[in-house]
Amino acid sequence: MIKKIGVVGAGQMGAGIAQVAAMHAFSVVMNDISETFLDRGMQRIEKSILSLLKKGRITEEEKNATLGRIETTVELSAFESADYVVEAVIEDESLKLDVFRQLDKICEPGVVLASNTSSIPITRIASATKRPSEVIGMHFMNPVPVMKLVEIIRGLSTSDETFETTKELAIKLKKTPVAANDSPGFISNRILLPMINEAIFALYEGAGTAEAIDSVMKLGMNHPMGPLELADLIGLDTCLSILQVLYEGFGDPKYRPCPLLKRYVDAGYLGRKTGRGFYTY
Ligand code: NAD
Repeated sequence: MIKKIGVVGAGQMGAGIAQVAAMHAFSVVMNDISETFLDRGMQRIEKSILSLLKKGRITEEEKNATLGRIETTVELSAFESADYVVEAVIEDESLKLDVFRQLDKICEPGVVLASNTSSIPITRIASATKRPSEVIGMHFMNPVPVMKLVEIIRGLSTSDETFETTKELAIKLKKTPVAANDSPGFISNRILLPMINEAIFALYEGAGTAEAIDSVMKLGMNHPMGPLELADLIGLDTCLSILQVLYEGFGDPKYRPCPLLKRYVDAGYLGRKTGRGFYTY
């Protein structure tokens, strides 16, 4: 039975996953590479929980209990007591493989190691461990406390038991699991990222301003956010990494990342998280 969930990475996704797990009565241990990143993750969680309290969606007791269930650590060795792990470090394949190699040594046999990767093949991540049948993709959407979907991706060796455990966990977190195969970008980002990339090309080639492009998609297609606003929310570094995975994975030029996206990432304009992307925050 899962009681304690380990979350690797305290960024926007890791913090969101830790928050949702703690809100549903799981103990959480959240890891990042420095206290600064852990503090930032906890501040993000506190802000989100306070807003739920203000809206009357949770009580003061629930707020305190949720925060009390989350411990933070820079030591991955603290995951030896975790019953399930979700990895949410930056979208960098070699880094993720290294984290999985370490988790495989630290975590008890039988503990499922899930990745929140947006696009990196689960089969490849699993191969970094000696437990490929217990590795799976558990892809939450941003912002985690709000979005219902969790895409569940089986690698080639993922067992039925690992799939069922993950599906049940998603349901306990009040999310809706949807199964996807381990093909580049899974379902969500295979469809979303080409749209975002096309919006960036439209901006790059002067089809319209950022505001015009977003307005057309919001008012004309009923999208709650425009594609450029959404790219800023996702993080432009993450968008670029996903497009590179699609481009290499399919070997099809239709996925080539727009040069403007590359230039923004080179400049450190990563979207909301750095205060500047297609918009200024
Ligand atoms: P982020 O940049 O906000 O956070 C990443 C965190 O990982 C940072 O705090 C960083 O310090 C930490 N980190 C880096 N190396 C680490 C290590 N070795 N050990 C522990 N922590 C480490 O990124 P994010 O948006 O939270 O994305 C995290 C993952 O979730 C990525 O794989 C991304 O593709 C995926 N994802 C992102 C979104 C989105 O909309 N941003 C949606 C779904 C999935």
